[in-house]
Amino acid sequence: MGFSCILSTPLNGRGMKGGSPLGLEFCTIASGSSGNCTYIGTKYTKILVDAGVSGKRMEDGLAELKLSGQDIDALFITHEHLDHVKGAGIFSRRFDIPIYATVETWAAMEGSLGKIAPGNKRFVYADEVCPINDICVKPFAIPHDAADPVAYNFLVGEKKITLATDIGHATDSIREHLEGSDILLLESNHDETKLKKGKYPYHLKQRILGENGHLSNHAAGELLSSVVTGKMKYVFLGHLSEENNDPHLAYETVAEILRKNHIKVNTHLHMDMAYRFGNGAKIEL
Ligand SMILES: [Zn+2]
Ligand SMILES: [Zn+2]
Repeated sequence: MGFSCILSTPLNGRGMKGGSPLGLEFCTIASGSSGNCTYIGTKYTKILVDAGVSGKRMEDGLAELKLSGQDIDALFITHEHLDHVKGAGIFSRRFDIPIYATVETWAAMEGSLGKIAPGNKRFVYADEVCPINDICVKPFAIPHDAADPVAYNFLVGEKKITLATDIGHATDSIREHLEGSDILLLESNHDETKLKKGKYPYHLKQRILGENGHLSNHAAGELLSSVVTGKMKYVFLGHLSEENNDPHLAYETVAEILRKNHIKVNTHLHMDMAYRFGNGAKIEL
């Protein structure tokens, strides 16, 4: 079956009543400093982003979506940190799944993945669209203390899903890539006060707070406020620190900043959490 990456091209039946004409689904399987994995799929194409949990947990998460590892067409990796790649090698070997990452990320993570079949070693390049059947995957560069970290846009027809975690600070490029997303998974890693007062060693606190560290709840709220448009329907806050955050605090901090910017949560857009353990809400577009 041939597909094109012309973004305005409808697939089939767009405009049908009921159901999801594109069959586009989004669901986080794990999110947080202890491991990350997200599912995005259509009728034709099923993708995972990051594999920072065990192969078993990935399979459990897929089973809840009535899928198995055999259904997965591609695994995209954001960067080499273990909370994003821990289960990648096992999963690729078990189900013969191609892994996509940037050249530098491959070099940095290869040692921890184990042997990967040569045909399953694939490359992506920032700002170059990588089509997987009917899903156009677009990596874009983010500031984070890894070899060559990227976040991803997933484009299907006129729909856009964006996964953006492990971000040291917001940049104009990040804002541009987040704008117009129908669904956004955004990092809301830590509460700055909790982190500063907490028990992490000084150098780790500085790393997390730094330009190439992680996005705080406050920074996530500010970034989100600057990119919300009428098109954005769902935001998931994710990659929460276990030590320096809690879901209620993250949600309330971001919601308060949105309110100050006259964006009504759950009126203008739905906001939810991507859970550390277990699937988040499944969204169909
Ligand atoms: Zn990281
Ligand atoms: Zn991470």
